[in-house]
Amino acid sequence: MRYYSQMDIYDLDGGIVTLRCEPLRILISKVLVRVPARVVDYVFDNCFFVMPESGERGCYLPNSLIGKKNIIALPHSLLHESEGDQIEKILHKIGHFSLEHKAPYEFSWEQNDKHKEEYDEQEQQVNALVKQWLEAWQTQHTDEHSGDASGME
Ligand SMILES: [Zn+2]
Repeated sequence: MRYYSQMDIYDLDGGIVTLRCEPLRILISKVLVRVPARVVDYVFDNCFFVMPESGERGCYLPNSLIGKKNIIALPHSLLHESEGDQIEKILHKIGHFSLEHKAPYEFSWEQNDKHKEEYDEQEQQVNALVKQWLEAWQTQHTDEHSGDASGME
């Protein structure tokens, strides 16, 4: 399996995918070393990451820029969380995108338990996918002595 280095991902972002939010660009490049290169390509071709800062001016995203892309919004507080939480939370969102899941807002909770079941099923699927990604990455990187993907950590 091919993986990108943190530097590769940082360059691929180009300041576009994370909308010139430098701390977010660094965070995303750090976390995405753990998923296969083809997943990174797919995510970068189809998503934007946003991290609205409290007290900041906010942003307007015209459809001339985003087209039909997906938006992954991350809380600013994530910058101060442990590396383990950052990895888990970002890969979780990317997992939902990869599996073409519904957003939580699309479920109507009042109606019946079917929605709860569908929601829970999505959560299980995404947890399984993230686990699989992390295990594959771990396997590939434990017996490698050249630190190509972890060189910047
Ligand atoms: Zn979820």
